[in-house]
Amino acid sequence: MLEIRPNCENCDKALPNDSLEVMICTYECTFCAECVENILQNVCPNCGGGFEKRPIRPKNELIKNPARKDKVLKPVSFNKFLETNKNIEPNKR
Ligand SMILES: [Zn+2]
Ligand SMILES: [Zn+2]
Repeated sequence: MLEIRPNCENCDKALPNDSLEVMICTYECTFCAECVENILQNVCPNCGGGFEKRPIRPKNELIKNPARKDKVLKPVSFNKFLETNKNIEPNKR
């Protein structure tokens, strides 16, 4: 099941389930749209993959399957994937 994480892993911005600016990679690494665009350049610092918009879980589903409460916070300093992947579309990496 998709893990709804509560914050941007890089800048710690709050990213609740209903936020429209949440991006995730295939492993659910979660970042705000601003970090993905300006800092990460659509390269996940953990796996090198691209990002897609996180789907919003409907409210009644959150009762059964709530969002994750504890944060993942790992600000990006050196991204070993950035230089090799930033100019390659995610489906070609
Ligand atoms: Zn951010
Ligand atoms: Zn990733």
